[in-house]
Amino acid sequence: MAGLDSTPKPDPTPKVLYTKLFIDNEFVDAEGGKTFPTINPSTGTKIIDISEASPADVDKAVAAAKRAFARGSPWRLTSGAQRAAMMHKLADLIVQHQDEIASLESLDNGKPFANAYGEVLNAAELIRYYAGWADKVHGLTVPSDDGSFCLTRKEPIGVVGQITPWNYPMVMVALKLAPALAAGCTCVFKPAEQTSLTALRVASFVKEAGFPPGVINFVPGFGQTGAALTAHKDVAKISFTGSTEVGHLILKAAGESNLKRVTLELGGKSPLVIFNDADLDLAAQHAHEGLFHNAGQTCCAPTRVFVQSKVYDEFVKKAVALALEKKVGDPFVPGVNQGPQIDTETFDKILGLIESGKKEGAKLETGGKRLGKAGYFVEPTVFSNVTDNMQIAKEEIFGPVQSIFKFETLEEVIERSNDTHYGLAAGVFTKNIDLALEYAKAVEAGSVWINQWSSINFQTPFGGFKESGIGREMGEESMNHYFETKSISIRLPTRS
Ligand code: ADP
Repeated sequence: MAGLDSTPKPDPTPKVLYTKLFIDNEFVDAEGGKTFPTINPSTGTKIIDISEASPADVDKAVAAAKRAFARGSPWRLTSGAQRAAMMHKLADLIVQHQDEIASLESLDNGKPFANAYGEVLNAAELIRYYAGWADKVHGLTVPSDDGSFCLTRKEPIGVVGQITPWNYPMVMVALKLAPALAAGCTCVFKPAEQTSLTALRVASFVKEAGFPPGVINFVPGFGQTGAALTAHKDVAKISFTGSTEVGHLILKAAGESNLKRVTLELGGKSPLVIFNDADLDLAAQHAHEGLFHNAGQTCCAPTRVFVQSKVYDEFVKKAVALALEKKVGDPFVPGVNQGPQIDTETFDKILGLIESGKKEGAKLETGGKRLGKAGYFVEPTVFSNVTDNMQIAKEEIFGPVQSIFKFETLEEVIERSNDTHYGLAAGVFTKNIDLALEYAKAVEAGSVWINQWSSINFQTPFGGFKESGIGREMGEESMNHYFETKSISIRLPTRS
């Protein structure tokens, strides 16, 4: 089996075998044969056409998922251990095709092959993590005031609609499907319109892994497809990752349809605070990696780096040196560690925000321009002297643009860190543990990292405060979002 110890074999021209909707364990055309092109962001040219699910196609997929969830269906009769076995098989198949899936990802998303290769394995491991939960979630027996014997059952919530963004497509497939499957739910998955290829490759393994028809369905398409899923009365829950703007729309549609349950993982404008006594090389490295990884297209990137005044200039020099080392280019070329931005829309937005930073008085230390003539490449960019009122300080840039702010005191930096409607992640570098913990307690963020950035683990709850989201993914807590709790109370003959 391919895996950690195998030699990666990138293929810049992988065969695209699957482009259709996947419903009831079969690949099918969309209504009227409708398709849309998927674009290679390294060149700006079309890779292939993908079937586009209409609201009627979404209806078909949801109906399949509803049948698969019906009382007495093969899926409803599975034990947790049986579901786990199917999930492990799915993970095995993903790992066996690691080279091919990673190649498809680099082609479709533009991320460097080494990163795509790692993420495919990561997705398989995430499925295995959740497979472990399948037979370990159980209810309670509850002492009740009226003397009843009360027991609680955790029952799968039903059909789950899953809507994902384009920045980590394979990890998203795992993060959305796996907890739902472990809980015994059925799934209708809509990948991002920019990156459907790897999700559809995973669809091709579903039958072989042993899942009954209708348990996992895929409906590629645009926002309209997602909206049809969100408004559907037979969908019991939506799990969404994407922009805060669309998060608002999803919550509204959930409220207007059937009060479906919603978990949201949304945007961020995450602060990273570096005190005078910090290990500055370590801090600069983590700030750089956190921001520039995946071409800056990460929801929890440290987009506001606050550096205490005494070490400010030294930190800026280190940050610039690291940005200049970045190798930007074709994701299939070994050594390249920054690929293109995902599409022309985000590319234009990033360049526009860079211009606004310059106009509003931030100091452009390096970068700031488009790279090359084809594709959507942006120079690694560093701004110093950024102040809180600038557009680049407030808006999510979602590109390779580092903004460095100056601060003096703990109280000041807590206030400035929290002065945002986002609350996804935060970080602090200092050798003073009291200072670190004081900051960690005060900052409004779902994850706080001390003397490191981006310690994201399957076991650790991840999600946002405020408008960065609702609910948590990963860790034990995340399983609860896939269950309804039922209390069953039995009258006992006598009190004891
Ligand atoms: P990003 O800015 O990261 O592209 P979006 O929030 O725009 O994030 O998109 C994330 C996902 O949400 C994509 O799969 C997209 O097609 C989907 N989407 C966009 N608009 C809607 C909508 N109104 N309802 C449901 N899903 C939507």
